[in-house]
Amino acid sequence: MNPAIERTTARHPRALGGDPLKRNLDAAFSLTSMVLNNGEPHTLAIKRKPPWLKARLPGGPAYEALRRRLDQHGLHTVCQEAGCPNMGECWSRGVATIMILGDTCTRSCGFCNVKTGRPAAPDRDEPRRVAETLAQMGLKHVVITSVDRDDLPDGGAGIWAETIIRTRDACPSMSIEVLIPDFKGDWGALQMVIDARPHIINHNLETVRRMYPAVRPSAKFDRSLEMLRRVKEQGGVAKTGVMVGIGERDEEVLALIDDVIAATGIQTRRRDQASQGRSGGATNGAANSSSEPTLDACDILTIGQYLQPSRNHLPVDRFVHPDTFAMYKREALTRGFKVVESGPLVRSSYHADHQADVLTEIQAQRAEHAAPDRPV
Ligand code: SF4
Repeated sequence: MNPAIERTTARHPRALGGDPLKRNLDAAFSLTSMVLNNGEPHTLAIKRKPPWLKARLPGGPAYEALRRRLDQHGLHTVCQEAGCPNMGECWSRGVATIMILGDTCTRSCGFCNVKTGRPAAPDRDEPRRVAETLAQMGLKHVVITSVDRDDLPDGGAGIWAETIIRTRDACPSMSIEVLIPDFKGDWGALQMVIDARPHIINHNLETVRRMYPAVRPSAKFDRSLEMLRRVKEQGGVAKTGVMVGIGERDEEVLALIDDVIAATGIQTRRRDQASQGRSGGATNGAANSSSEPTLDACDILTIGQYLQPSRNHLPVDRFVHPDTFAMYKREALTRGFKVVESGPLVRSSYHADHQADVLTEIQAQRAEHAAPDRPV
């Protein structure tokens, strides 16, 4: 059996085979408009992928070496668990997203391929193993994420903090990006993660406000915004991501961008604005005179195409054209994000190492202006 189908059937034991729609693309009726509440007719047939969604197949010596190393240390990756289409590219470059707190999520979002159920007790030795494995891998940048652990009193924040601190100690020259859950709005849990001082704190909004009940029923749009606001408020580097093609409309994506900027933005004045013009395409490029306020909002945004992991997940509503992704990027940069990755195969950790390079530039700028910065 195809390994991808094997993984999916293992996680979603409901029968996947024998569906006549798989062979006959003319569906008789559709529930999609009811599920997505967007009032538009769709078919239940899985849509054929357009040519811009072709990804490289996993394989090759570097891919195999990384897989063996992760297996050897008993670590999980979201790349495998979510069936990410970029494994061929990322793993052969030695980039993977480590998933901590087990492989079983307490939530069951309609878009996500990670196994759901009652997780095992947390592995208290996991932070040490993660740190030691990463030290051996010699990476420049790592992304660590976790399943949701709503079963734990702190949502897993203790393990999160220990993993970050141990990894910082073991890999002093590596930048650490964490993609964290919402901890059910437990601000004390979030603070434990902030206090552990990862270099980038990512919390994905995943979709537009209207789609939350269908896509993230256990989450709240405003709660996730508040998480990003708290990260920025304390001077952290904040990142968020959304997937498109799950039922939202372009104007809702632009409204989300505005919402994030409005919720997280802080106006500052800087004495010397000269470096604003040196940041090139990675920033909004707005030059400011010494008397004009500068907007410092959520730093990084990723936008990618939603792909239905299995027939038990929410259907794809549309394949967004690369030109539209380019429009999202232009708009997000204009409206205040500093770094934007927007494209059909973008995932929140896709090219995260490249984003870290831009982050280094941002941090250098901040250090240069640290003293004169003050709220307006
Ligand atoms: S995009 Fe992220 S999840 Fe996907 S393979 Fe790359 S590192 Fe893994």
